[in-house]
Amino acid sequence: MQDMVESPAELAQYINIDAEMLKIVTDKYPMRINRYFLDLAIGTGAALLRQIVPDMQEIADPFGMIDPLGEDQDSPVPNITHRYPDRVLFLISHACAVNCRFCTRKRKIGHWAPITDHEIERGIEYIRSDKRISDVLISGGDPLMLSDDRIDWILAAIRRVSHVETIRIGTRMPSTLPYRITPELVDRLKRYAPLFINMHFNHPAELTAQACEAISLLADAGIPLGCQTVLLRGINDDAETLKRLFRLLLRNRVRPYYLLQGDLTQGANHFRTRVEKGLDIMGKLRGDVTGMAVPHYVIDLPGGGGKVPLVPEYIVGDKDNVLEIRNYCGRICSYPQVE
Ligand SMILES: *Cc1c(COP(=O)(O)O)cnc(C)c1O
Ligand code: SF4
Repeated sequence: MQDMVESPAELAQYINIDAEMLKIVTDKYPMRINRYFLDLAIGTGAALLRQIVPDMQEIADPFGMIDPLGEDQDSPVPNITHRYPDRVLFLISHACAVNCRFCTRKRKIGHWAPITDHEIERGIEYIRSDKRISDVLISGGDPLMLSDDRIDWILAAIRRVSHVETIRIGTRMPSTLPYRITPELVDRLKRYAPLFINMHFNHPAELTAQACEAISLLADAGIPLGCQTVLLRGINDDAETLKRLFRLLLRNRVRPYYLLQGDLTQGANHFRTRVEKGLDIMGKLRGDVTGMAVPHYVIDLPGGGGKVPLVPEYIVGDKDNVLEIRNYCGRICSYPQVE
Protein backbone atom coordinates (compact mmCIF):
# COMPACT_ATOMS: atom_id res chain seq x y z
CA MET A 1 0.00 0.00 0.00
CA GLN A 2 2.94 2.34 0.51
CA ASP A 3 4.15 1.85 -3.02
CA MET A 4 1.22 2.45 -5.32
CA VAL A 5 1.53 3.36 -8.98
CA GLU A 6 -0.54 6.52 -9.19
CA SER A 7 0.45 8.36 -12.37
CA PRO A 8 0.66 7.47 -16.06
CA ALA A 9 4.33 8.51 -16.02
CA GLU A 10 5.08 5.89 -13.39
CA LEU A 11 2.99 3.29 -15.16
CA ALA A 12 4.87 3.96 -18.42
CA GLN A 13 7.93 2.36 -16.82
CA TYR A 14 6.12 -0.97 -16.92
CA ILE A 15 3.83 -0.96 -19.91
CA ASN A 16 3.69 0.77 -23.25
CA ILE A 17 1.32 3.74 -22.87
CA ASP A 18 1.22 7.37 -23.90
CA ALA A 19 1.68 8.86 -20.45
CA GLU A 20 1.18 12.44 -21.54
CA MET A 21 -2.18 11.76 -23.16
CA LEU A 22 -3.39 9.61 -20.30
CA LYS A 23 -2.61 12.36 -17.81
CA ILE A 24 -5.72 14.11 -19.18
CA VAL A 25 -7.75 11.06 -18.14
CA THR A 26 -6.23 10.69 -14.70
CA ASP A 27 -6.68 14.39 -13.94
CA LYS A 28 -10.39 13.65 -14.13
CA TYR A 29 -10.43 10.05 -12.87
CA PRO A 30 -7.41 9.33 -10.67
CA MET A 31 -5.49 6.12 -11.21
CA ARG A 32 -4.17 3.81 -8.57
CA ILE A 33 -2.68 0.35 -8.93
CA ASN A 34 -0.86 -1.55 -6.22
CA ARG A 35 2.21 -3.61 -7.06
CA TYR A 36 0.59 -6.98 -6.48
CA PHE A 37 -2.21 -6.34 -8.94
CA LEU A 38 0.10 -4.62 -11.43
CA ASP A 39 2.40 -7.66 -11.57
CA LEU A 40 -0.56 -9.97 -11.91
CA ALA A 41 -2.12 -7.85 -14.66
CA ILE A 42 1.11 -7.59 -16.64
CA GLY A 43 1.57 -11.34 -16.38
CA THR A 44 -2.02 -12.00 -17.46
CA GLY A 45 -2.59 -9.44 -20.20
CA ALA A 46 -5.51 -7.38 -21.47
CA ALA A 47 -8.25 -9.01 -19.38
CA LEU A 48 -6.73 -7.54 -16.22
CA LEU A 49 -4.86 -4.54 -17.61
CA ARG A 50 -7.99 -3.07 -19.16
CA GLN A 51 -9.66 -3.05 -15.73
CA ILE A 52 -7.01 -0.75 -14.28
CA VAL A 53 -5.13 1.14 -17.01
CA PRO A 54 -6.66 4.54 -17.89
CA ASP A 55 -8.10 4.84 -21.38
CA MET A 56 -8.86 7.87 -23.56
CA GLN A 57 -12.38 6.50 -24.06
CA GLU A 58 -13.14 7.46 -20.46
CA ILE A 59 -13.10 11.17 -21.23
CA ALA A 60 -14.67 10.86 -24.67
CA ASP A 61 -17.85 9.41 -23.21
CA PRO A 62 -20.96 11.30 -24.32
CA PHE A 63 -23.39 8.85 -22.83
CA GLY A 64 -22.88 8.40 -19.16
CA MET A 65 -24.37 9.78 -16.01
CA ILE A 66 -22.30 10.97 -13.09
CA ASP A 67 -24.42 9.19 -10.47
CA PRO A 68 -26.19 6.56 -12.61
CA LEU A 69 -27.94 4.81 -9.74
CA GLY A 70 -29.22 7.96 -8.11
CA GLU A 71 -27.39 7.03 -4.93
CA ASP A 72 -26.92 10.61 -3.86
CA GLN A 73 -30.61 11.47 -4.24
CA ASP A 74 -31.73 8.53 -2.06
CA SER A 75 -29.32 9.61 0.63
CA PRO A 76 -30.87 10.80 3.92
CA VAL A 77 -27.45 11.50 5.48
CA PRO A 78 -24.03 11.58 3.78
CA ASN A 79 -22.66 8.16 2.81
CA ILE A 80 -25.94 6.31 3.34
CA THR A 81 -28.24 5.25 0.50
CA HIS A 82 -31.60 4.04 1.75
CA ARG A 83 -33.56 2.67 -1.20
CA TYR A 84 -35.14 -0.54 0.00
CA PRO A 85 -37.02 -0.37 3.31
CA ASP A 86 -35.10 -3.10 5.14
CA ARG A 87 -31.53 -2.38 4.11
CA VAL A 88 -29.05 0.44 3.65
CA LEU A 89 -25.86 0.94 1.74
CA PHE A 90 -23.26 2.57 3.97
CA LEU A 91 -20.09 3.92 2.36
CA ILE A 92 -17.26 4.11 4.85
CA SER A 93 -14.23 4.68 2.58
CA HIS A 94 -13.65 6.29 -0.79
CA ALA A 95 -10.30 4.63 -1.37
CA CYS A 96 -9.43 1.29 -2.99
CA ALA A 97 -6.37 -0.85 -3.58
CA VAL A 98 -6.85 -0.28 -7.30
CA ASN A 99 -9.09 2.24 -9.03
CA CYS A 100 -11.14 0.12 -11.41
CA ARG A 101 -11.74 2.07 -14.58
CA PHE A 102 -15.33 0.76 -14.83
CA CYS A 103 -16.29 1.70 -11.27
CA THR A 104 -19.90 2.76 -10.79
CA ARG A 105 -18.75 5.23 -8.14
CA LYS A 106 -16.13 6.76 -10.40
CA ARG A 107 -17.38 10.15 -9.24
CA LYS A 108 -16.11 9.42 -5.75
CA ILE A 109 -13.20 7.05 -6.10
CA GLY A 110 -9.84 8.71 -5.93
CA HIS A 111 -10.63 12.38 -5.38
CA TRP A 112 -12.06 11.87 -1.97
CA ALA A 113 -12.25 13.77 1.21
CA PRO A 114 -11.74 11.32 4.06
CA ILE A 115 -14.91 10.18 5.78
CA THR A 116 -14.70 11.64 9.26
CA ASP A 117 -15.62 10.08 12.61
CA HIS A 118 -18.47 12.56 12.77
CA GLU A 119 -19.87 11.43 9.41
CA ILE A 120 -19.61 7.76 10.37
CA GLU A 121 -21.41 8.51 13.62
CA ARG A 122 -24.19 10.28 11.74
CA GLY A 123 -24.59 7.23 9.51
CA ILE A 124 -24.84 4.92 12.50
CA GLU A 125 -27.29 7.30 14.16
CA TYR A 126 -29.46 7.09 11.06
CA ILE A 127 -29.39 3.28 11.13
CA ARG A 128 -30.35 3.40 14.81
CA SER A 129 -33.21 5.80 14.09
CA ASP A 130 -35.04 3.51 11.64
CA LYS A 131 -36.24 0.23 13.08
CA ARG A 132 -37.00 -1.19 9.63
CA ILE A 133 -33.28 -1.51 8.83
CA SER A 134 -32.26 -5.11 9.44
CA ASP A 135 -29.39 -5.37 6.94
CA VAL A 136 -26.44 -3.00 6.62
CA LEU A 137 -24.30 -3.25 3.52
CA ILE A 138 -20.90 -1.68 4.17
CA SER A 139 -19.18 -0.61 1.01
CA GLY A 140 -17.19 2.24 -0.51
CA GLY A 141 -14.57 2.49 -2.03
CA ASP A 142 -13.20 -0.48 -0.24
CA PRO A 143 -14.09 -0.74 3.46
CA LEU A 144 -10.99 -2.85 4.07
CA MET A 145 -8.80 0.14 3.20
CA LEU A 146 -9.46 1.29 6.77
CA SER A 147 -7.36 0.09 9.67
CA ASP A 148 -8.42 -2.95 11.68
CA ASP A 149 -9.21 -0.68 14.61
CA ARG A 150 -11.45 1.58 12.59
CA ILE A 151 -13.30 -1.33 11.00
CA ASP A 152 -13.76 -2.84 14.43
CA TRP A 153 -15.11 0.42 15.82
CA ILE A 154 -17.68 0.73 13.02
CA LEU A 155 -18.78 -2.91 13.16
CA ALA A 156 -19.15 -2.79 16.94
CA ALA A 157 -21.29 0.34 16.72
CA ILE A 158 -23.55 -1.20 14.08
CA ARG A 159 -23.84 -4.43 16.09
CA ARG A 160 -25.04 -2.46 19.10
CA VAL A 161 -28.15 -1.47 17.11
CA SER A 162 -30.60 -4.14 18.19
CA HIS A 163 -32.75 -4.16 15.02
CA VAL A 164 -29.77 -4.80 12.73
CA GLU A 165 -29.67 -8.52 11.99
CA THR A 166 -27.14 -9.00 9.20
CA ILE A 167 -24.08 -7.01 8.24
CA ARG A 168 -22.48 -7.31 4.82
CA ILE A 169 -19.10 -6.06 3.69
CA GLY A 170 -18.48 -5.48 -0.01
CA THR A 171 -14.76 -5.60 -0.81
CA ARG A 172 -12.46 -6.22 -3.72
CA MET A 173 -9.42 -6.85 -1.51
CA PRO A 174 -9.34 -10.65 -1.95
CA SER A 175 -8.87 -9.99 -5.66
CA THR A 176 -6.85 -6.78 -5.72
CA LEU A 177 -4.67 -7.09 -2.60
CA PRO A 178 -5.21 -10.44 -0.87
CA TYR A 179 -2.45 -9.74 1.68
CA ARG A 180 -4.92 -7.35 3.34
CA ILE A 181 -6.86 -10.39 4.60
CA THR A 182 -4.68 -11.05 7.63
CA PRO A 183 -5.41 -13.51 10.45
CA GLU A 184 -5.73 -10.48 12.76
CA LEU A 185 -8.39 -8.88 10.57
CA VAL A 186 -10.30 -12.14 10.20
CA ASP A 187 -10.19 -12.66 13.93
CA ARG A 188 -11.99 -9.36 14.43
CA LEU A 189 -14.51 -9.81 11.61
CA LYS A 190 -15.68 -13.19 12.85
CA ARG A 191 -16.90 -11.69 16.12
CA TYR A 192 -19.68 -9.83 14.31
CA ALA A 193 -21.59 -12.80 12.92
CA PRO A 194 -23.93 -12.96 11.13
CA LEU A 195 -21.55 -11.02 8.93
CA PHE A 196 -21.31 -11.80 5.24
CA ILE A 197 -18.59 -10.79 2.81
CA ASN A 198 -19.34 -10.20 -0.84
CA MET A 199 -16.13 -9.99 -2.79
CA HIS A 200 -15.55 -8.88 -6.36
CA PHE A 201 -13.77 -11.08 -8.90
CA ASN A 202 -14.15 -10.49 -12.63
CA HIS A 203 -11.76 -12.95 -14.21
CA PRO A 204 -10.39 -16.41 -13.32
CA ALA A 205 -6.80 -15.09 -13.44
CA GLU A 206 -7.59 -13.05 -10.32
CA LEU A 207 -7.88 -16.27 -8.31
CA THR A 208 -4.18 -16.60 -7.59
CA ALA A 209 -2.69 -18.78 -4.86
CA GLN A 210 -2.58 -15.68 -2.61
CA ALA A 211 -6.22 -14.85 -3.33
CA CYS A 212 -7.30 -18.42 -2.58
CA GLU A 213 -5.37 -18.33 0.67
CA ALA A 214 -7.09 -15.09 1.69
CA ILE A 215 -10.47 -16.62 0.87
CA SER A 216 -9.60 -19.71 2.92
CA LEU A 217 -8.84 -17.59 5.97
CA LEU A 218 -12.28 -16.00 5.71
CA ALA A 219 -14.10 -19.27 5.00
CA ASP A 220 -12.34 -21.11 7.83
CA ALA A 221 -13.56 -18.37 10.18
CA GLY A 222 -17.11 -19.30 9.22
CA ILE A 223 -17.82 -16.11 7.28
CA PRO A 224 -20.28 -16.80 4.44
CA LEU A 225 -18.76 -15.60 1.17
CA GLY A 226 -20.31 -14.35 -2.04
CA CYS A 227 -19.06 -12.68 -5.18
CA GLN A 228 -20.34 -9.82 -7.30
CA THR A 229 -18.95 -9.87 -10.82
CA VAL A 230 -19.32 -7.06 -13.33
CA LEU A 231 -20.02 -8.09 -16.91
CA LEU A 232 -17.24 -6.32 -18.84
CA ARG A 233 -16.97 -6.05 -22.59
CA GLY A 234 -13.95 -7.85 -24.00
CA ILE A 235 -12.85 -8.95 -20.51
CA ASN A 236 -15.30 -11.56 -19.29
CA ASP A 237 -18.30 -11.32 -21.64
CA ASP A 238 -18.14 -14.89 -22.86
CA ALA A 239 -19.64 -18.01 -21.35
CA GLU A 240 -16.36 -19.95 -21.17
CA THR A 241 -14.56 -17.30 -19.10
CA LEU A 242 -17.45 -16.88 -16.71
CA LYS A 243 -17.97 -20.63 -16.35
CA ARG A 244 -14.34 -20.97 -15.32
CA LEU A 245 -14.60 -18.02 -12.95
CA PHE A 246 -17.79 -19.19 -11.23
CA ARG A 247 -16.56 -22.77 -10.87
CA LEU A 248 -13.27 -21.60 -9.40
CA LEU A 249 -15.05 -19.36 -6.94
CA LEU A 250 -17.34 -22.13 -5.81
CA ARG A 251 -14.45 -24.54 -5.41
CA ASN A 252 -12.93 -21.92 -3.10
CA ARG A 253 -16.16 -21.75 -1.06
CA VAL A 254 -17.41 -18.49 -2.59
CA ARG A 255 -20.93 -18.47 -4.01
CA PRO A 256 -21.40 -16.29 -7.07
CA TYR A 257 -24.15 -13.87 -6.02
CA TYR A 258 -24.59 -11.26 -8.73
CA LEU A 259 -23.48 -10.85 -12.31
CA LEU A 260 -23.97 -7.12 -12.76
CA GLN A 261 -24.90 -5.54 -16.05
CA GLY A 262 -22.77 -2.41 -16.57
CA ASP A 263 -24.20 0.83 -15.22
CA LEU A 264 -24.45 4.00 -17.30
CA THR A 265 -21.52 5.50 -15.44
CA GLN A 266 -19.93 8.40 -17.24
CA GLY A 267 -16.49 7.36 -18.39
CA ALA A 268 -17.24 3.64 -18.26
CA ASN A 269 -19.54 3.06 -21.19
CA HIS A 270 -16.88 1.37 -23.30
CA PHE A 271 -17.10 -1.53 -20.83
CA ARG A 272 -20.80 -2.08 -21.32
CA THR A 273 -22.19 -5.05 -23.25
CA ARG A 274 -25.64 -5.42 -24.71
CA VAL A 275 -28.16 -7.12 -22.40
CA GLU A 276 -28.75 -9.85 -25.04
CA LYS A 277 -25.14 -10.86 -24.50
CA GLY A 278 -25.62 -11.30 -20.78
CA LEU A 279 -28.83 -13.25 -21.30
CA ASP A 280 -27.11 -15.51 -23.81
CA ILE A 281 -24.33 -16.21 -21.30
CA MET A 282 -26.85 -16.96 -18.55
CA GLY A 283 -28.58 -19.40 -20.89
CA LYS A 284 -25.30 -21.17 -21.50
CA LEU A 285 -24.46 -21.44 -17.79
CA ARG A 286 -27.71 -23.17 -16.94
CA GLY A 287 -27.25 -26.91 -17.37
CA ASP A 288 -23.48 -26.67 -17.87
CA VAL A 289 -22.65 -25.41 -14.42
CA THR A 290 -23.99 -26.47 -11.03
CA GLY A 291 -26.76 -24.16 -9.90
CA MET A 292 -24.67 -23.27 -6.87
CA ALA A 293 -22.20 -21.50 -9.17
CA VAL A 294 -24.79 -19.56 -11.17
CA PRO A 295 -25.32 -15.98 -9.97
CA HIS A 296 -28.34 -13.78 -10.55
CA TYR A 297 -27.85 -11.57 -13.57
CA VAL A 298 -29.08 -8.13 -12.49
CA ILE A 299 -29.39 -4.67 -13.91
CA ASP A 300 -29.32 -1.77 -11.51
CA LEU A 301 -31.75 0.64 -13.12
CA PRO A 302 -30.72 4.22 -13.79
CA GLY A 303 -32.16 6.91 -11.59
CA GLY A 304 -32.53 4.76 -8.51
CA GLY A 305 -34.86 2.12 -9.93
CA GLY A 306 -32.95 -0.55 -8.03
CA LYS A 307 -31.80 -4.03 -9.03
CA VAL A 308 -33.91 -6.18 -11.31
CA PRO A 309 -33.05 -9.80 -12.20
CA LEU A 310 -32.79 -10.57 -15.91
CA VAL A 311 -33.62 -14.11 -16.98
CA PRO A 312 -33.55 -15.63 -20.46
CA GLU A 313 -36.97 -16.32 -21.91
CA TYR A 314 -37.86 -19.92 -21.06
CA ILE A 315 -41.62 -19.81 -21.54
CA VAL A 316 -42.04 -19.92 -25.33
CA GLY A 317 -45.77 -20.64 -25.57
CA ASP A 318 -48.99 -20.56 -23.54
CA LYS A 319 -51.97 -22.26 -25.19
CA ASP A 320 -55.10 -23.82 -23.63
CA ASN A 321 -53.55 -23.62 -20.21
CA VAL A 322 -50.44 -25.52 -21.29
CA LEU A 323 -47.11 -23.76 -21.06
CA GLU A 324 -44.43 -24.57 -23.57
CA ILE A 325 -41.11 -24.30 -21.81
CA ARG A 326 -37.67 -24.49 -23.36
CA ASN A 327 -35.09 -26.43 -21.35
CA TYR A 328 -31.35 -25.79 -21.12
CA CYS A 329 -30.56 -27.66 -24.33
CA GLY A 330 -33.38 -26.19 -26.37
CA ARG A 331 -35.94 -28.99 -26.12
CA ILE A 332 -39.52 -27.75 -25.69
CA CYS A 333 -41.48 -29.43 -22.88
CA SER A 334 -45.15 -28.94 -22.01
CA TYR A 335 -46.38 -28.04 -18.58
CA PRO A 336 -50.14 -28.18 -18.04
CA GLN A 337 -51.28 -25.69 -15.41
CA VAL A 338 -54.00 -26.07 -12.82
CA GLU A 339 -57.23 -24.18 -13.44
C1 LIG B 1 -27.40 -3.34 -4.24
C2 LIG B 1 -27.95 -2.48 -3.20
C3 LIG B 1 -28.42 -3.01 -1.99
C4 LIG B 1 -28.37 -4.51 -1.70
O1 LIG B 1 -29.23 -5.18 -2.54
P1 LIG B 1 -29.39 -6.79 -2.42
O2 LIG B 1 -30.20 -7.12 -3.62
O3 LIG B 1 -30.08 -7.03 -1.12
O4 LIG B 1 -28.03 -7.37 -2.44
C5 LIG B 1 -28.96 -2.18 -1.07
N1 LIG B 1 -29.04 -0.85 -1.28
C6 LIG B 1 -28.61 -0.29 -2.44
C7 LIG B 1 -28.74 1.17 -2.61
C8 LIG B 1 -28.04 -1.09 -3.41
O5 LIG B 1 -27.58 -0.54 -4.55
S1 SF4 C 1 -12.72 -1.86 -5.88
FE1 SF4 C 1 -14.93 -1.53 -6.16
S2 SF4 C 1 -15.30 0.55 -5.33
FE2 SF4 C 1 -13.09 0.34 -5.70
S3 SF4 C 1 -12.73 1.17 -7.74
FE3 SF4 C 1 -13.02 -1.07 -7.95
S4 SF4 C 1 -15.22 -1.33 -8.38
FE4 SF4 C 1 -14.93 0.78 -7.54
